[in-house]
Amino acid sequence: MIEIKTPAEVAKMRRAGIVVAEIHAVLREQIQPGVTPRDLDEIARRELRERGATSNFLGYGGFPATVCVSVNDVVVHGIPDDVAFRDGDIVSLDFGAVVDGWHGDAAVTVPVGTVTDDVAELLSVCEDALWAGIAAMRSGRRVRDIGAAVEKTVRSRGDYGLVEEYGGHGIGTAMHQDPHVLNYRTRARGPKLVPGLCLAIEPMITLGSPATHTLADQWTVKTDDGSWAAHFEHSVAVTPEGPLVLTALDAGVERLSALGVSTPGASLSDLW
Ligand code: MG
Repeated sequence: MIEIKTPAEVAKMRRAGIVVAEIHAVLREQIQPGVTPRDLDEIARRELRERGATSNFLGYGGFPATVCVSVNDVVVHGIPDDVAFRDGDIVSLDFGAVVDGWHGDAAVTVPVGTVTDDVAELLSVCEDALWAGIAAMRSGRRVRDIGAAVEKTVRSRGDYGLVEEYGGHGIGTAMHQDPHVLNYRTRARGPKLVPGLCLAIEPMITLGSPATHTLADQWTVKTDDGSWAAHFEHSVAVTPEGPLVLTALDAGVERLSALGVSTPGASLSDLW
């Protein structure tokens, strides 16, 4: 079932999204050689506690941490361990929070120190694909338009592996809701985008093949060919005035206006 939120409920989701965005900013600042994934998990736990928020990752299907930390050829769902980051690595942080029963979910891939040009471009293409998908989230359009925009952006930028086994999802009173949001174009149009529909959009791309496998720990997803992978995600609400990026501190105003897409902006007082 698809959960359509009222404007007041979207405002509550925005509060959860801001908590997610703030903690993402704290975690991102920590990333440097010598820091470990477990350090980040401990910081995330503390930051959640300080804000009176809870984790939607910890315990989800038995996941043992508050943040997924996926390094280099790990695509998603890395379990925080004690292996220190090294200069030139890339680190994907997938992190969410629950505030007053409403969920936020976002991910970013961050370079450690200096990365090669190919790797920097991988990150840039994945992030641009995310924003192209968000820009397609206009009332009256279809879920298919999101995946089509993501795929078009990735294909236009080079020979990247576009991971198909994982995708975005509805989000609200639970972290994972209908509909599933594919990162590529399909024949099925999918549900209509209507005000109050909230989706997490999350493209994942690689420098090689899109094929992945899950390790014996049941969580860690790696590329089959060892190529490095990027993952970017935001939780977004459809509104009559355009997409409201719930998990961006500026609500997506800067990136969307650069794409010529109108947004309701960061104010919660008058959503629609
Ligand atoms: Mg997600």
